[in-house]
Amino acid sequence: MGIDPTPTKSVQLSESTLRMLAGLDEPKPDRPNPKRTRATSTPAVRGPRPARVPDGMCGNGLHKMEGDNVRIGRRSGGRVTRECRACILNRTRSRRENQPRVTEPPASVPCIDCGGMIGVRVNGYSGWALAGEGGRCEVCADRPKAEKIIADHKLLPPEEQSKRTRRTALMRARRMLERVLDGGRAFHPGAPHGTSYAYSEWRCRCEKCSEARGVINQTYRDRQAMS
Ligand SMILES: [Zn+2]
Ligand SMILES: [Zn+2]
Ligand SMILES: [Zn+2]
Repeated sequence: MGIDPTPTKSVQLSESTLRMLAGLDEPKPDRPNPKRTRATSTPAVRGPRPARVPDGMCGNGLHKMEGDNVRIGRRSGGRVTRECRACILNRTRSRRENQPRVTEPPASVPCIDCGGMIGVRVNGYSGWALAGEGGRCEVCADRPKAEKIIADHKLLPPEEQSKRTRRTALMRARRMLERVLDGGRAFHPGAPHGTSYAYSEWRCRCEKCSEARGVINQTYRDRQAMS
């Protein structure tokens, strides 16, 4: 019949395969055999069960699963999940930190209006890099907006003009026009630099003010991740 009479050559296994096969028979050092553990350990003491994660802690055993730290999620099929917010926050943080950073400052270009040098914003670069819109620096890009706010304010009836919100808007617009270009950024000479107040009320975009604002944004992002 069609049987090949030549004896099958014994299969030559590579060394790595042999090592792997040997490894399969070895007991896993980090996973103790539950039967063996039960046989040798004394069952007398009744206390917290010897689970890898202590009772009431999150899956990583790092945080207490209680109160605000528990994020309840509802999945399809009515399944309810309980997640650790602190661990979610850690995950988002490390993901953000692992994003590749651009360390080379971008080449600067002159603003098409004032000729002042501005950086082109590069995603991920945290040094000085600021652009307004359409090739203009931030000061020039914001000028028409500020001028419009001031012009519109003059057209309002006096009682409307004296309203607090209107006066605030007018003050911000004036300060916007008082800014100068410094290091590619809109800089207000009179602002209390390094505060988020200077960023929002004085419209200062110097590095110190943007950084102060960045801290707030970071807090905001963290809060978003926590909710
Ligand atoms: Zn956790
Ligand atoms: Zn300009
Ligand atoms: Zn500033």
